Amino acid sequence: MSASTVLSLYLVLAGLDLAWALVLTLLNYRSAGSAPLPRRVAADLDSGQEAKARGYSRARLAFGALESSVTTLIVLTVAVSGALGSLQAGYLGLGLAPFWRGLLFLATVLAASSLLGLPFSLWSTFRLERRWGFSTTTFRTWLLDGLKGLGLGACLGVPLLALLYAFMDAAGGAWWLWAAAAFSGIQVLLSVVYPVFIAPLFNKFAALPEGELRDAIYDLARGLDFSVGGIYVMDGSRRSRHSNAYFTGLGKGKRVVLYDTLVAQLGTQEVLAVLAHEIGHEKRRHILKATVVSVIASFVAFWALFLLASWPAAYGAFAFQGPSREALLVVFGLVSGPATFFLTPLFSLWSRRHEYEADAFAARAVGGPAMAQALVKIDRENASNPSPHPLYSFWYYSHPSLGERLEAIDRAGGQAD
Ligand SMILES: [Zn+2]
Repeated sequence: MSASTVLSLYLVLAGLDLAWALVLTLLNYRSAGSAPLPRRVAADLDSGQEAKARGYSRARLAFGALESSVTTLIVLTVAVSGALGSLQAGYLGLGLAPFWRGLLFLATVLAASSLLGLPFSLWSTFRLERRWGFSTTTFRTWLLDGLKGLGLGACLGVPLLALLYAFMDAAGGAWWLWAAAAFSGIQVLLSVVYPVFIAPLFNKFAALPEGELRDAIYDLARGLDFSVGGIYVMDGSRRSRHSNAYFTGLGKGKRVVLYDTLVAQLGTQEVLAVLAHEIGHEKRRHILKATVVSVIASFVAFWALFLLASWPAAYGAFAFQGPSREALLVVFGLVSGPATFFLTPLFSLWSRRHEYEADAFAARAVGGPAMAQALVKIDRENASNPSPHPLYSFWYYSHPSLGERLEAIDRAGGQAD
């Protein structure tokens, strides 16, 4: 296959992905605006809440369509223009050692792509989310978040790049196996390190004070034979009124993290339902399965990187002078998205199955009505799309829609009686 064929294939694939995403978004935009509410949802939204949910969902969808169109068009223009090849040739002339040259090139490409995302982040945070009453962040917090993210990216990215180059130097044709094993290990390690060292850089975590809620959570965990290593309230309201809850850590003694917004919006029984749902993910081994799948995905990705490395047409397609490691990584970054877009609905389907199982687990633990009420309140507070288009939710939704979840909980309750 010639370089120009590879480029044409890439452009067609990326164009088709964008076109399909826009078709789905348009269908969902219309559905969010005017499709009748599912029977089970209609009872829980008054007309003001319905109008807000419809309006906010449409605003987010329109913004997302604009962002992905502009971003894709700019990326494709850069790919066709040969700018990447010229930049690489320019850096070759500096006479740097291969690692430093690669680092400089990758840092330039990443910086350019961050700059491209900057106006969208600003608009989303300070116009869209603020207009709909969600964003509470200050410009200072936004800026600090960006700088911390940049610092963290450098602290992690530079050693990881050095490690990858070291495997490529030392391990011959098996470098991708070693690299995949090492990166998988690091990924698991990071999930342990994250709650203790990284999350506190961005948020404050306070132990949940003694009282009714804390006692009830420990009772629930004991009843479900689940060991809790601590319950923390996170100041999510510093940035947004959206709410959430999660567990972190591996093995025994997991940390429970509740957003302060969630504690403010839900009653005790509903918070318990949310936690029972999260415990359900753990008990049904969803987290373990997801880890195994992401390790397998790492091996596949590094194998693809290995195959790509010895395919000259892939470099020529993006105007690189010849094979080099930094070119390899950028080509991989360009093609991996369009090449795996068709996997999106498979992962969505898999994730939704887990969500149904966790809901059923929680409904058994705390009762169907408490679980249903928690889901209704969370969706209402977040102004989630009350009537998503079935094709859009099939493709993208990692969680079933509210109507689907409520019906499944009702059905399970009916069977238990
Ligand atoms: Zn879940």
